[in-house]
Amino acid sequence: MKVTAPALLALAACASTPSARRFEYAEMHMGTFARIVLYAPSPEAADAAARAAFAEIARLDRMMSDYRTDSELNSLPGRASPELIEVLSASRRFSEWSDGAFDVTVGPLVADLRRGRPPTREALSLVGWRRVEIDGDAVRFPPGTKLDLGAIAKGYAADRALRALGHPCALVEIGGDLALGDPPPGGAAWRIALPDGRALLASRCGVACSGHAERGAHIVDPRTGTPVTRTTLVVLAARNGMTADALATALSVLAPQDGLRLANRLGAQAFIRGRDGHAQTEGFAALLAPR
Ligand code: ADP
Ligand code: MG
Repeated sequence: MKVTAPALLALAACASTPSARRFEYAEMHMGTFARIVLYAPSPEAADAAARAAFAEIARLDRMMSDYRTDSELNSLPGRASPELIEVLSASRRFSEWSDGAFDVTVGPLVADLRRGRPPTREALSLVGWRRVEIDGDAVRFPPGTKLDLGAIAKGYAADRALRALGHPCALVEIGGDLALGDPPPGGAAWRIALPDGRALLASRCGVACSGHAERGAHIVDPRTGTPVTRTTLVVLAARNGMTADALATALSVLAPQDGLRLANRLGAQAFIRGRDGHAQTEGFAALLAPR
């Protein structure tokens, strides 16, 4: 699916539930805020839906967290649940498409970065997406490999939580990664505020924002081990939350023109602000809310 400006057709989206009211929920999950907005016919229905969605996020966090010692991710190599296989398989594709800019084996480099030291030769030798092999439900990789799904798991969990809600007019946000369902009743799209003061109008897609200036460098170039400081804001709208999340990280690392080419190839819209200007895909401006 190509992400384009909200179509007028979307106005009719929630016409079948004219009595639906807006409900909003927030909880801490995955080390950040998870937020749900949904339209439901009653508080009871909304509460039950939100509980199911937060439970799904918690389940996926227990599965995919890299800093919970008992997570399924940290039990690998070995057999993995379908959800973990899905995310690891998707990760491999994003690595291939981004020429290694997106790489879930960056763990050792991120560890160096967090200790405030330059990338060690050892850490660099342990990084490389081709080290991870997926064969059915089995995941294999050599000793020393450390997987880190920090750049994709939140988007994936948002997608799954949106589905778990069971109400189409809803959105799920986990720390800046969004999965958007059908637009609110009577509205043409969700209005998503961006860190730079602008807003996007979008629905039935994923949106992700990576801002690096204020949070300090936490994205590394897997090929050099150096923290990314060139990009200060990346905004992505893609077919789902997982794709937007992964691409936002990939486009933070890639040279802007390479990043835009990748976004175009995947039918996504992207905006990249760097130290010396900005670049965006052709359809991005059409997603911006009028000032
Ligand atoms: P956030 O939403 O927290 O800003 P991102 O989606 O930008 O997170 O991903 C950053 C996280 O991903 C880092 O904390 C680290 O765990 C991991 N990471 C860092 N660099 C890369 C990379 N090049 N490819 C994949 N994952 C990365
Ligand atoms: Mg990301």
